[in-house]
Amino acid sequence: MIQSYQQRPRLQESYDTIIIGSGMGGLTTAALLSKQGQKVLVLERHYTAGGFTHVFKRKGYEWDVGIHYIGEVQRESSILRKLFDYVTDHELKWADMGEVYDRIVIGDQHFDLVKGVKNFKKQMIFYFPEEENAINTYVNLVFKAVKTSKNYYISKAISPFLNALLGKFLKAPFYKFSDKTTDEVLRSLTKNETLIKVLSGQYGDYGLPPKQSSFSMHASVARHYFDGGNFPVGGSSQIVKTIAPVIAASGGTILVSAEVEEIMIEKNTAFGVQMKDGKIIRAKNIVSNAGIMTTYNTLLPSKTVEKHKLKERLQKIKPSVAHVSLYIGLEGSPEDLQIPKTNYWIYPAEGDHDTCVKRYLDDLSQPFPVVYLSFPSAKDPDWSNRYPGKSSIDIITLVPFEAFEKWSDTSWKKRGDKYEKIKEDIAQRLLKELYKQLPQVEGKINCYELSTPLTTRHFANYKNGEVYGLDHGPSRFRQAFLTPRTPIKNFYLTGQDIVTAGVGGALFSGVLTTMAITGKNVLKTL
Ligand SMILES: Cc1cc2nc3c(=O)[nH]c(=O)nc-3n(C[C@H](O)[C@H](O)[C@H](O)COP(=O)(O)OP(=O)(O)OC[C@H]3O[C@@H](n4cnc5c(N)ncnc54)[C@H](O)[C@@H]3O)c2cc1C
Repeated sequence: MIQSYQQRPRLQESYDTIIIGSGMGGLTTAALLSKQGQKVLVLERHYTAGGFTHVFKRKGYEWDVGIHYIGEVQRESSILRKLFDYVTDHELKWADMGEVYDRIVIGDQHFDLVKGVKNFKKQMIFYFPEEENAINTYVNLVFKAVKTSKNYYISKAISPFLNALLGKFLKAPFYKFSDKTTDEVLRSLTKNETLIKVLSGQYGDYGLPPKQSSFSMHASVARHYFDGGNFPVGGSSQIVKTIAPVIAASGGTILVSAEVEEIMIEKNTAFGVQMKDGKIIRAKNIVSNAGIMTTYNTLLPSKTVEKHKLKERLQKIKPSVAHVSLYIGLEGSPEDLQIPKTNYWIYPAEGDHDTCVKRYLDDLSQPFPVVYLSFPSAKDPDWSNRYPGKSSIDIITLVPFEAFEKWSDTSWKKRGDKYEKIKEDIAQRLLKELYKQLPQVEGKINCYELSTPLTTRHFANYKNGEVYGLDHGPSRFRQAFLTPRTPIKNFYLTGQDIVTAGVGGALFSGVLTTMAITGKNVLKTL
C-alpha cells in the first residue's frame, strides 16, 4: 500500500523527476529541483521517510537511526549550513553540542576533541607535548587535503566534454591525498602509537581503520568536526519535515511504503519506474538514491546491466562494514542522569585500530574494536518537551554481516531464539561498556533493543547491512563511475555513494546530481 508523507496524496500520471529513496541525497536533489520549478516525486519503500535520517518510536521513546552529530552547520556562512537553510527554507534549527564533541577513550585514559581548531591543537599538545610539530603538521595536512576536494567533486558534475578537457587537472591534487591511507600519513608525522590512535579515533564515522581508509576520507571527517558537533533541534526527523513543504510547493510529493521494483528503460533512455504493485509512473528524469549496489544489482533491467557491463563496475568497489546499534530508553531526564552531550569512542588499550579490528573479526568473542556511545536526548534541547523525565542512549559497534547471514531468509521480529540470544549477549556486552563510562545510569534503563545488519537490510535495503554504503579506501576515490551521470540517458545516481558517507556528503550529492540534471551551478545560487 502506497501512502503519502503529506496529508493528502496527490499522485499524478507523470513527473519531471522521480527519485527512488528518500535519504538525504534524494531529499536534497528533490528540494533543489523543486526550487527550480520541477514537479518531483520521491518514492520511499520504508513506512517512514528520511533514509538514515529517519527516527523510530517505541515504548514511549524515540531514537535517531543515522545521525549523531553534524559539523560545520553552526556557522551561517558555511556551505553546508547555507545548503541546509536553502533546502529547508531556513526552518531547520541546530543545537551546538558544546566544547567537547568527541571523547576518545583508550583503556582507562581519555582524550577530548575540543571545538575550534586552535583549541583542538592546544588540547592535543597538552596531551602530547613532545608531539607539537606533528600535531601542527597534521592539522595543516587535513586542511590541505580538504581544500583539494572541492574541484574533485565538481569534476563529477560537469559535462563529459568539460571533464575530458579539465577533469585530470581538477582531480590530480586530490589524488595526492586520497591515494594514501590514513595510517601512511599519520606514521609519516609521528611514531607515537597513542597519538596515532587518538587522531584516528573517529574512524567509526566512516567505518574503516587507518591502514585501510583513504586519508582524504579521514581528513574530511576530522575537518568537518573541527568547529564542533551539532544536532537538529527536535531530532533528525525535522530534516524530512522541513524539506517536504519545499517539494510540495512545486507540486511534488514524498510517498512512503512505495517500493520501486524496476527502472523502466527504452532505447537506453529511462522513462519511468514500475512499482512493486505493478503500477508504472513516468517522468522525464529518474534518479536513484537507493545506493549503487542495490540500483545496479536489482533495480535496472538485466539487459541494461549487461549492455553497459555494470556488474564489472561493482567488482571495483566494496560494501562498507555492517553495524549493530543498541537503542536504550531510560527513566530520568538527561539532566537528572547527568548524561553528557559528548560522543564517546571506546577502544581497547592494546594494539592499534587495525590490529583490534582483525582480532575481533577473527574471533567475535574478542573485545569490540570500537564502541561508540551517543546521547541524542542530551543533544536535543527540545527532547524534554516531547519526552519529559526520560532519556535515550545509542551504542554502536561494528559487526560483519556474515555473523547474521544465516537468518537472512527469516522475517523481522521472527528470526528465532538463537538469533535473539546472540542479540542479547551483544546487548549485555555493550551495556557493560556503558556502565564503565556512566555508572550512574545503571538501574535506570527501562527498555533496550538491538538492531543488527539484517535490520539495516530490512529497513534501508542495503543487502549486506552496510552502515555507510561503500568502503572508503583509496581505490574508491579513483572510480570514475561514482558520479551522478550514468551510461543511461535521463537516469542519474545520488546519495552517499557518489560523494562519501555522512549527512554532509549525501547533502552535497544532491547538489552534484541537480547540477548534472539541469546544467546549472546550484552553488552559485547559494
Ligand atoms: C548508525 C549510523 C550512524 C550515523 N551517524 C552519522 C552522524 O552522526 N553524522 C553524519 O553526518 N552521518 C552519519 N551517518 C551516515 C549518514 O546517515 C548517511 O551517510 C546518509 O544519511 C546516507 O544518505 P543517502 O542519501 O545516501 O541515503 P540513505 O539514507 O541510505 O537512504 C536511501 C533510501 O533509499 C530507500 N530505498 C532503497 N531501495 C528502494 C526502492 N527499491 N524503492 C524505494 N526506496 C528505496 C531506502 O529505504 C532508504 O530510505 C550514520 C549512518 C548510520 C547507519
